[in-house]
Parts: sequence; C-alpha cells; structure tokens
Amino acid sequence: MAGTMIDTDIAVVGAGGGGAVLALALAQKGIKTLIIEQASGPPQGLRGEILQPNGQHVLDRLGLLSKLPADSTRTVRKFHFCRVGGERLCTVDYGELPAPYNRAVVTLPNVAHHAILDGIQAEPSVTLWYGTSFLRLIREGTQVTGLVAKRGDEEVTIRAKVVVGADGAFSKVREALQIPADLHLYPQGYLIAILDSPLPVTEAKYFVGKKTILGLFPAAGDKVYCFYMIPTGTYDKVKAQGLPALQQAWTVIDPALKPLFQRLSDWGQTAFMPTGRVRTPTWVADGALLIGDAAHAMNPHASQGRMQAMVDAMTVADLLPECLAEQDFSAATLKRYELARRPQVTMLQRLADEQVLFWNTANPVLGFLRDRVFRTLDRNPRLRYRVLTTTAGRRETAPFSMIDRIMAAGFLPDPCASNITAER
Ligand SMILES: Cc1cc2nc3c(=O)[nH]c(=O)nc-3n(C[C@H](O)[C@H](O)[C@H](O)COP(=O)(O)OP(=O)(O)OC[C@H]3O[C@@H](n4cnc5c(N)ncnc54)[C@H](O)[C@@H]3O)c2cc1C
Repeated sequence: MAGTMIDTDIAVVGAGGGGAVLALALAQKGIKTLIIEQASGPPQGLRGEILQPNGQHVLDRLGLLSKLPADSTRTVRKFHFCRVGGERLCTVDYGELPAPYNRAVVTLPNVAHHAILDGIQAEPSVTLWYGTSFLRLIREGTQVTGLVAKRGDEEVTIRAKVVVGADGAFSKVREALQIPADLHLYPQGYLIAILDSPLPVTEAKYFVGKKTILGLFPAAGDKVYCFYMIPTGTYDKVKAQGLPALQQAWTVIDPALKPLFQRLSDWGQTAFMPTGRVRTPTWVADGALLIGDAAHAMNPHASQGRMQAMVDAMTVADLLPECLAEQDFSAATLKRYELARRPQVTMLQRLADEQVLFWNTANPVLGFLRDRVFRTLDRNPRLRYRVLTTTAGRRETAPFSMIDRIMAAGFLPDPCASNITAER
C-alpha cells in the first residue's frame, strides 16, 4: 500500500526535453503540476544540442531564448554537406529564413535544458522531484486518475487529472497504458565528442560517404561537436582500437581538419547515443497522454527529435487550461493535441528514414543518387529552401512532391528552380 498521497492537476513523468518544457509552460499558466524524474539531478552528459528555429520559438515563448548565456551559445548559419575526402556537395544557409529565427543555435552541453529546469524551480505552482521513478498507473474504470511512483524507498501515490508520459523512447507510461509501440532500433548510432578547436570553425560540415557520416558543428568557446556514425554495440570496440585509430579515420574524412581531430585526447570527451524510432497508433487515453520520444522517437537525421518534443509540450500546455475549465480529460478531447501534431511528426519520421536509406548506405548506386541530389539542391534554391524549412521545423508537409523528387535526382529540369519567393 502506498505511503504518501499527493494531489495535483497534471503529473508529468520525465523531466527531459519534452517534460521539462511542459512543466514550465504549465507553471507559467499557474497550473498545479508535479514532475517526476528518475535521475538524481539535471543531466550532465553529451547530447544533440542544436536548437532549430522551431525550438528557438518555443524558448522565446517561455521567455528563455534571450536569457541563454551568450558565452554558451553559438549562431551557425551555413551547413556544408561534403563528400568524404572534402569535396563540397551543397550548402544550406539558415540566413535565407525569415528573421528572427534565421539561424541554428548550437549550445554547450545541456545549457538550454538547465535554463528550463532552473525556470521550473523558480515557479511556485510546479514541484520537481528527482530520484523518483514511475511504477504504475491508477485508474477508475477506463479513466487514468493518477500514478504510483517510487521516491527513494517510499511509494508515493500521485492523484492527477492528467498523467503525461514524457519518459522517452522506452516509456513505461506507454506500456502501462497498454498502447502498442513499434520500437525500431537502427543498426547505427552516434559517437559524440566535444573538442576544443585549434582553428576558428564558424560553419558546420556534414560528411557523407560509404557507410560513413561525420557531422562537425561549431559551438561556443571555439568548441566543436563531432557526431560520428558507428554500428550500435561497437562503442567499446572503437575505444579498444585507441584514440589514434579514431583520429586517423576522421582525418581520412577531412585531412584539413587533422589539427582539430588531434584535440581528442580522452574518451571522457565522448559518449555513445543509440538511435531509435517509435510508432504508436494513439498518443492519448482517458486522463493520459504521451509526448516526445515516448510517442514518436525519430532518427536524428531530421535534427528535430527534441524540437518535436518541445512543440508537443507547448501544444499540450495550450490545450490543458481548456480541459481543466471544462473538467473534461477524455481521450476524445486530448486527441485534439494529437491531431494537431501528427502530420508534422509523421512527415519527419518518414523523411528521416529516407535519409537513413540514402545517407547511411554502403550501396554505390544509392550513394551516387544521394550525391546527385545534394548537387542538384546546391543549384536549385527552391528545393533547397524546402529542405531548409523542413529541418528548421517550419513545414508540416513533405518537402518534395513526386515531380520534385525526379527533379532533385537530376532527371528533369526545374523551371521554377530560382523562385523561393513563392515558398516564403
Ligand atoms: C545522436 C543523437 C543526436 C540528437 N540530436 C538532436 C538534435 O540535434 N536536435 C534535436 O531536436 N534532437 C536530437 N536528438 C533527439 C533528442 O535527444 C530526443 O528526441 C529528445 O531528447 C526527446 O525528448 P523526450 O523528453 O521525449 O525524452 P528524453 O529527453 O529522453 O527524456 C525522458 C526523461 O524521462 C526520464 N524517465 C525515463 N523513465 C522514467 C521513469 N520510469 N520514471 C521517471 N522518469 C523517467 C529520463 O530519465 C529522461 O530524463 C538526438 C538524438 C540522438 C540519439
């Protein structure tokens, strides 16, 4: 039998990219919220830290974007896609987007996340419990009415009008809701490193080759994030081969950056991140819903996983005041959130999977087509702008129609190639 009993309006499980934003957005509306997080404190490890324009917009709405410390953020406008060896294939320029979100923002590890968590701690209507794990749901009939969590050695019963599962791709809340999930683990993940650059690096580079991907993103303080694709389960093997072997592999990809790669001096500068995709038939139940990776994890090629979790959170935060006013927490009403969010998420999941097929490939024909598409994009501002607005989180529909695809592959000329005014 549970010991302590707590009453709240909204209970959020997981203080990651989506849950923390939701808790802060609800706090700013004065909604009583309890957020539980199994970790013992704010995260310290390495992760993808690129804030796309839609993520910047969310932080702006929360009043945080302009407060991110200037010495921890870096504006990046140009992303160069290159072949292994150095040849440039295509350059995408965020400067083409409408201001003020006409840039990507790269932060030092966890900077935006810590700002959100600090914001939560300052809000009286939200309580954040670290070291607290979700155990099971409480139901009355079909309606979820709360959850039981383990806080230290104690079982705590949390009564809530809505329980939000923001607990990542392996969501236990999803499991407890008996929502079936198609969880696909990709055969490749990413070795991430953060290096002090001896050279000024102001523009991002993304190398593609035969089963090879290396992304280099400039961060504040002349640091550079490296994302290197490796087969899942081989991180220890890569480490056993030693730092010089990894430096050498990266130097083959871009010999000019050898001095940067030599700054990799300790495995403590690295981490491994597996990649997965989640598809579920529904994100809502009576009295409960899922956001972020719990509902729809996607391959990081879309550079949108965390951004989508943040946008989910804002959509839910916009809907819940109405649910509370009407005392209606039915799946039918919560479904409005899912209907608003599914089109963009599904499109991004599909796009990221298509990129997996062409970008991660060892097949020379697929590699040839990939490079050909990049080269066409470089000459075709209209199609390039479509790709940019998709990665920036500004599109809900697929960037290319069937005809666009044929033109992107270079098999048809594009009479409107120079016209991006119509796209804006
Ligand atoms: C290599 C790589 C690079 C990436 N780069 C980017 C990028 O550049 N841009 C981008 O937008 N996205 C990126 N992503 C994706 C992004 O990291 C995720 O999509 C995002 O973190 C999802 O947020 P979330 O809140 O749904 O889940 P998470 O951030 O995973 O948070 C889930 C939280 O729930 C907690 N939790 C889990 N189980 C329980 C439990 N039982 N009880 C209590 N708490 C629990 C966890 O501790 C965690 O804090 C990348 C991912 C990878 C793998």
